[in-house]
Amino acid sequence: MEKETIESLGEFGLIDRIKSNAVIFNTNTALGIGDDAAVIDNGNTFTLISTDLLLEGVHFDLTYTPLKHLGYKAVAVNVSDIAAMNGTPKQITVSIAISNRFDLEAIDEFYEGVNAACEAYHIDLVGGDTASSRSGLVISVTAVGEVDKDKIVYRSGAGENDIVCVTGDLGAAYMGLQVLEREKQEFLGNPQMQPKIDDKTYVVGRQLKPEGRTDIVHDLNEIGVVPTSMIDISDGLASEILHLSKHSQVGFTVFFDNIPIENITLETCTEFNLNPIASIISGGEDYELLITFKQSDFEKIKSIPEITPIGFVTKEIENWLVLNSGEKTKIVAQGWK
Ligand code: ADP
Ligand code: MG
Repeated sequence: MEKETIESLGEFGLIDRIKSNAVIFNTNTALGIGDDAAVIDNGNTFTLISTDLLLEGVHFDLTYTPLKHLGYKAVAVNVSDIAAMNGTPKQITVSIAISNRFDLEAIDEFYEGVNAACEAYHIDLVGGDTASSRSGLVISVTAVGEVDKDKIVYRSGAGENDIVCVTGDLGAAYMGLQVLEREKQEFLGNPQMQPKIDDKTYVVGRQLKPEGRTDIVHDLNEIGVVPTSMIDISDGLASEILHLSKHSQVGFTVFFDNIPIENITLETCTEFNLNPIASIISGGEDYELLITFKQSDFEKIKSIPEITPIGFVTKEIENWLVLNSGEKTKIVAQGWK
């Protein structure tokens, strides 16, 4: 057999390997590696912990990302993971490694964004770490949240015949990234050029300033519905469907026509000569929620307009995307290599 490498394992294989070698010593560790957040049993409620690393040149490009937006986004993506457990974020820590390229104004701008997100989500910045970097800006945010024990939602709870739903609309953040990348290339060719993104404010905004859907967690709580499974859509719908499928040991059938997509997203796909299906299914960073519900909750969830049914759960562990032509395509593995 060939020797295992990081390449052969891929992102998810690597995480599985780390997980299989991690020993749990404490009985209050209710759930470790594998979901959107770790779950700690603190007696009356569960504490949720989620962390994300953002690297300049990998996750963001400072030629078109204002630092204030970056600060906001770094917080929002962690809030999104707490929301994916049906929890409420409470505290964050923010760690940064900065190079001598940055001045005080730049750091102030970044923290303006962090503080704006703290205000928007009602969370407290309670710590972090500061270091110098030799290779661009590094940001690490950890979010701590809380959820009632009877309300927690894992990736693993989806059951046969459940309804599959998504929040908001999909694909816009990815198309926003295409627009920003195009503007960057044109700017590099002609620095006098003014950006032409006026008609693309929606998709660009979705890329630069995503929101964690704590509003959905609130709405579901109001109507007394607890989803059977949930995950946030950070890596694209296809990838997240495969996660829920694997953890819940069920299959997903979703209908492309039912997926909420803004017109400007589809128009931008056409303009960039990109396949709309691939872009919508695999484009990441929308930070919407993929949720499954019991059939019996269907009437209740209709009262939340931001939730759209897109398919159903099957006993067979196979994942299908049905196109309007009736044609079916199998949803296959993704993730970085
Ligand atoms: P998400 O996209 O929701 O942030 P990830 O795919 O990054 O989730 O991570 C999936 C799970 O693997 C999470 O439980 C995360 O904490 C865990 N994980 C990722 N990288 C590591 C690592 N280097 N060591 C331990 N756990 C990790
Ligand atoms: Mg997640």
